[in-house]
Amino acid sequence: MSPTQPEKDQAKSNGNGNSNEDVDGEHNEWKFKAPYKVHDSDPNFKTLYNGSCHCGRVQYQLSREKPLASKYCHCSTCQTLHGAPFQWAAIFHKEDINFTHGHSDLGWYESSEKTTRHKLPCKVSCAYCRSPIMDEGRNMILLFPSLIKFKSDAEKRKFDIECHMFYGNRLLDIKDGLPKWTGINGQSDLIEDSPAEMVKKRKREIEEEGEEGKEEGKKN
Ligand SMILES: [Zn+2]
Ligand SMILES: [Zn+2]
Repeated sequence: MSPTQPEKDQAKSNGNGNSNEDVDGEHNEWKFKAPYKVHDSDPNFKTLYNGSCHCGRVQYQLSREKPLASKYCHCSTCQTLHGAPFQWAAIFHKEDINFTHGHSDLGWYESSEKTTRHKLPCKVSCAYCRSPIMDEGRNMILLFPSLIKFKSDAEKRKFDIECHMFYGNRLLDIKDGLPKWTGINGQSDLIEDSPAEMVKKRKREIEEEGEEGKEEGKKN
């Protein structure tokens, strides 16, 4: 759905652009959709956390107390794009975030086509200081909590991770007793100091999947 003229005027007054060129056309449609649509007219948006990039151009608020999930990803794409041994990401709905500043200072990167157009799923960063802000998926966002200004330890603990992904590709060992998946969580093997009962459960699942596969094979 294309944005209406009042929506375009609102976007300009919210700092999404200075001229019609900044709001017209398909390439500008992201400005009118979550997570970039400004929520300032929504009285139900309750700000619980504030985050910003290093230079301060990009600023946002979060309304959800605890992420839907939180994890470390050790895949090589995350290692390269973050210049770090792993990525810390917390999953939120697109409606949970409200960008209050810097809409026009966002940069995109889509890693399979290697394009900087806004194409989902993509990496979102500050176009000025290059701080990575989040991964934007089709339905969810994976926010990087390192940018949140936590007010207490208790707040920070709400973002504690549940598991490690792509741990088979790790650059360093983290002996925290949490589930460690070789690839995507729930779809790969559990290794190292993953909880023993989870490892057993996963082994059973893989065996059952294998037997189902054999059954399927017989039928065909
Ligand atoms: Zn910045
Ligand atoms: Zn990754």
